[in-house]
Amino acid sequence: MRVLVCGGAGYIGSNMTAMLAKAGHEPIVLDNLSKGHRAAVRNARFILGDFGDYDFTVDVLRKYGIAAVMHFAAYIEVGESVSQPLRYYDNNVSRTRTLLAAMETVGVRKFVFSSTAAVYGMPDRIPITEDTPKMPINPYGETKWSVERMCHFQSETDKLRYAALRYFNACGAGFDATLGEDHHPESHLIPLIIQAAMGKRDNIRIFGIDYSTPDGTCVRDYIHVEDLCAAHLLALDKLDNVAEAVYNLGNGTGYSVRQVIDTVRRVCGKDFKVVEEDRRPGDPPVLTADATKAQNELGWKPRYPDLETIVQTAWAFHAAHPNGYGD
Ligand code: UDP
Repeated sequence: MRVLVCGGAGYIGSNMTAMLAKAGHEPIVLDNLSKGHRAAVRNARFILGDFGDYDFTVDVLRKYGIAAVMHFAAYIEVGESVSQPLRYYDNNVSRTRTLLAAMETVGVRKFVFSSTAAVYGMPDRIPITEDTPKMPINPYGETKWSVERMCHFQSETDKLRYAALRYFNACGAGFDATLGEDHHPESHLIPLIIQAAMGKRDNIRIFGIDYSTPDGTCVRDYIHVEDLCAAHLLALDKLDNVAEAVYNLGNGTGYSVRQVIDTVRRVCGKDFKVVEEDRRPGDPPVLTADATKAQNELGWKPRYPDLETIVQTAWAFHAAHPNGYGD
């Protein structure tokens, strides 16, 4: 199947592109390189451009005979979404609406959307099931939830068949650790700790040590990027049978910030300074997924649920790419 991968030069999109190609699909990457890296796109046609440009996107969908769209091209910084909400509504909602309008015009019906556990906000019950109330607490989560609602209503018109995949904490590096995280600025825990281990930053800061968790630090569900991508392939197939498919994607196992730090220390064999700081606003103490639905309905089973393996792949990527993709 010919699949347009919006944001295919980014972290998860580039792994998805590689996996689509490996699975015998024909991925075509559309990316404006505002965040992504040209060097992360291999074995796929690359189109430089903007999915928020309606005429351009209609042309691309028509010209390449696209059968499905996967959309990874969102802004993902929670803090930035709080300070610049309109920027998030513009990119994550308005321009995604334009993409869906272009798909409607051309008659492309299949859409796989990167959603997030942030749609749940501060849930009462852990692990989180898909029917947990959606109460995002920041513009980032709210914009993702808005797109899910938009897709839901559009699917009811019969013009769209969509999957919304709610990621927990995406991490690790895929495809022999050649496709990894290179965000500017970096805000995610594992790459930040690795940067501390490489001496590229002075320390790693722990945001809060007084949470109601076993060691006082936040617990998250870390899911390997290739496992995430494998679920996208299965979700794409699922759209042959259903018009709406919503799944949590996580391992169901939680690791604390301290456990992640200890694992990186062990895997990298390097020590670094740890600084204990106040809580970061908006961080729930524990977020873990109940991904039973994806396992039962998609037959999805994570292959790399173990934190040590996840960190080994991330470390291998960073060790081989000390300056990221170098662009
Ligand atoms: N975190 C931390 N120090 C950092 C970055 C993150 O203690 O420098 C914590 C953060 O408070 C959260 C966890 O690590 O509890 C994962 O954060 P990340 O930003 O990677 O993902 P999030 O859970 O916010 O999506």
